[in-house]
Amino acid sequence: GHPVYRDMSTTIFEHMSARARETGAINLGQGFPEGPGPDAVLQAAADALLTRSSQYPPMAGLVELRTAVADHYARHQQLDLSPQEVIVTSGATEAIAASLLALVQPGDEVLMLAPLYDAYLPLVERVGGVAKLVTLTPPDWRITREALAAAITPRTRILLMNNPVNPTGVVLREEELALIADLCVAHDLIAICDEVWEQTVYDGLPHRPLMGLAGMRDRTVKIGSAGKIFSVTGWKVGWMCAAPPIAALLARAHQFLTFTTPPGLQWAVAEGLAYPDAWFADQRAAYQASRDRLAAGLAAAGYVVQPSAATWFLSIDLPASGIALDDVSFCNRIIDEAGVAAIPISAFYPTRPVTHLVRLCFSKTDRTLDQAIERLAAFR
Ligand code: GLN
Repeated sequence: GHPVYRDMSTTIFEHMSARARETGAINLGQGFPEGPGPDAVLQAAADALLTRSSQYPPMAGLVELRTAVADHYARHQQLDLSPQEVIVTSGATEAIAASLLALVQPGDEVLMLAPLYDAYLPLVERVGGVAKLVTLTPPDWRITREALAAAITPRTRILLMNNPVNPTGVVLREEELALIADLCVAHDLIAICDEVWEQTVYDGLPHRPLMGLAGMRDRTVKIGSAGKIFSVTGWKVGWMCAAPPIAALLARAHQFLTFTTPPGLQWAVAEGLAYPDAWFADQRAAYQASRDRLAAGLAAAGYVVQPSAATWFLSIDLPASGIALDDVSFCNRIIDEAGVAAIPISAFYPTRPVTHLVRLCFSKTDRTLDQAIERLAAFR
């Protein structure tokens, strides 16, 4: 038959959202905030659509947005980027795809940490990369030098990682980032660091960009997402930042993927990135309150919840909650019997070493969270 690539199955997020639509379940599966998004940023987009051009913007993005991204990272993360080091993409997923297309040669080994975001492995394999996975396990998901070093060979070229981590809500510890940076320098690796959750870090924890560590400035591709920062996941505006020699390669891959990103949305995101610090702090505080509301409600209903320091997700520990189902069975049961959609953590591993955790999205209104808690309480 035809040489058809068979390993790109429908993502778990689309699968679960489709089932939630069919069944009318409350969707705590796929990660997206409830509601249309913050007024200010929606108004900025509406204004831009009416007053600015809707024709092709420059391929690498509007200079105003590239400048706004660089300024935002200088202000929030002490990075020193020039606008030329920022390429605007149609979402972070495109940035990941473009980075891999640009930087991986067939046969190159790509080091990744599991649990891993579900787009990584199919894309790495599709560009001809050889996946080398380091498997992390609960409860602390700790990264060790030994495990990383054991997975690196002379053919390793790229490290692809996520921090803060979806689905665990982990923020990598200082010493973990330091040893990652050390190994990247020692083995001359380029790090592609997906930092889309950088503005959803709670409990006063800072976000430390990998690019800011010693030796990493010119060997890191830093990926960001306006959808996450501004709670508008459908906008699909993202970016990738890298030193000029890498950025030039990234731009060439991007030009044949999407070429550009809607300019009205780029204008709005540029405006939003310049909001005062308090705006971002308020967003974080609201999401943190939602996290705490869901965690407390689930605990009161007898569920044991894993702590989450970041992202829009927390996890239920099934056996600790006295539930004798694996994660996939539990998700199938609660969507049909409780009317709540969730995501099994085993979907974030190519093999299923962890099958006892279920991810729930808490970026929802209090009313929706309370309803979901009530339904999950009744399911027990
Ligand atoms: N990032 C989202 C999540 O983890 C999913 C995005 C998507 O479905 N492409 O739920």
